[in-house]
Amino acid sequence: MSDFNLLIIGAGSGGVACARRAASYGASVAIIEEDALGGTCVHRGCIPKKLLVYASQFSDHFEEAAGYGWSLKESSFSWKAFMGAKVEELKRLESVYEGLLDGSGVKIIRGRGRLMGVNEVIVDEKIFHAENILIATGGYPNMPEIPGIDLAIDSDDMFNLPEKPKSIIIVGGGYIACEFACIMAGLGSHVTLLYRGDMILRGFDSDVTQFVCEEMKKSGIDIRLKSSVKNIIESENSIRVITDDDVELVAEKILFATGRHPNTHDIGADKVGLKLDKDGAIEVNEGSMSSVNNIYAVGDCTNRVNLTPVAINEGRCLAETLFNNNPQLPNYINIPTAVFTQPEVGVVGLTEEEARASKFEIDIFKTDFRPLRHTLSGSESRVFMKLVVERASRRVLGCHLVGEAAGEMAQILGIAINSGATKDDFDSTMAVHPTSSEELVTMYKLGPS
Ligand code: NDP
Repeated sequence: MSDFNLLIIGAGSGGVACARRAASYGASVAIIEEDALGGTCVHRGCIPKKLLVYASQFSDHFEEAAGYGWSLKESSFSWKAFMGAKVEELKRLESVYEGLLDGSGVKIIRGRGRLMGVNEVIVDEKIFHAENILIATGGYPNMPEIPGIDLAIDSDDMFNLPEKPKSIIIVGGGYIACEFACIMAGLGSHVTLLYRGDMILRGFDSDVTQFVCEEMKKSGIDIRLKSSVKNIIESENSIRVITDDDVELVAEKILFATGRHPNTHDIGADKVGLKLDKDGAIEVNEGSMSSVNNIYAVGDCTNRVNLTPVAINEGRCLAETLFNNNPQLPNYINIPTAVFTQPEVGVVGLTEEEARASKFEIDIFKTDFRPLRHTLSGSESRVFMKLVVERASRRVLGCHLVGEAAGEMAQILGIAINSGATKDDFDSTMAVHPTSSEELVTMYKLGPS
């Protein structure tokens, strides 16, 4: 006899989305969580990160205000005040999650869940039986094995630092490293970014990465490419870092933002023969079913596309399939995404490099300009936009933006690209004037390709 139709381990974005959708179709659902409801996105990721981004943007706003006639008294930032406000907001969000789960009729079980059998999960000493089990346990930061790594912090720690470091070395060149570099620079810390490769944000369009890198340097971030950490040594009130080319750097903190691991090491995979890949990710089919019938997995623990909206979509598709007789598969094509660097990156669709590698005959349209706001602000910040267009069909294969609200634009462009919009559709759409996004529908000149 089962206790539930669906038992979910992990109340992050994917687990909660699946729970609520399944319960809305009448399924009896329980969700197990040992930590705060809401998972990485709410407590150690997207939300507190975006709040920090907002906090860090004020320094530029204050500086730029003079160009518009404002004179401001000297400003100062209180890390403690910000952290206090952030903690309150995250508590509020957690209670919103609790309310949403309660309101949907989902039972919340507090504790750590582990698989015991194909239909069994143990939480502390208690065993629950379920017809279906969903694992949505997310991921955790990866720390490479380097002498002195214990002196370093990870992105989880960044959200709980008691003081704002005056200087910080950030290792990595992905989403988290670049976002934190911009946040800390905006808050007035001296930032050094060490990346082992040729150019940050690997996988993004190369024009975008070049542009962002230059803009980040303009804001004072010391970006060192082809640089890795060899050794980390404790020094008086600071940390000494030796790079592989024997350069010595000193800072108050060193953050490693070097990717994340699926959180699967203690879920009882061996008890049921659940297959994990070499990185520890749960192997699933396109419908999120694992190697074991009736055990499913969504989100970062499957290491497919590690983004909150993707986990939510995977969770909802699963609930539709299992409890609404409406089989659905997540659509991984043209996922819009943003990197909240300053300036922000917003992209959807193929990069120029991907389009060429897929043998598309393409035309490239691009523009790079000073936005109206900065004509008076004194800021040297610029905007970059690029369209990748299939020559014969004129279909827009990719849009790549850097600048204010690029993430907001990527969301809307995602609808256009997913609807098969052509360059002619873009061109025949009236511009909204005066905006930066009007450039998207007025790019007539072919850029050099
Ligand atoms: P990413 O995979 O984006 O980047 C990891 C970075 O660390 C890469 O630059 C990688 O280099 C480097 N790296 C990996 N291992 C080592 C090592 N041993 N030594 C030195 N450098 C190393 O991971 P993040 O940690 O930035 O983010 C994790 C996930 O979170 C991402 O998959 C992303 O999808 C998600 N995320 C999304 C955000 C958003 O949507 N805005 C924001 C934050 C996170 P290399 O390029 O050479 O592999």
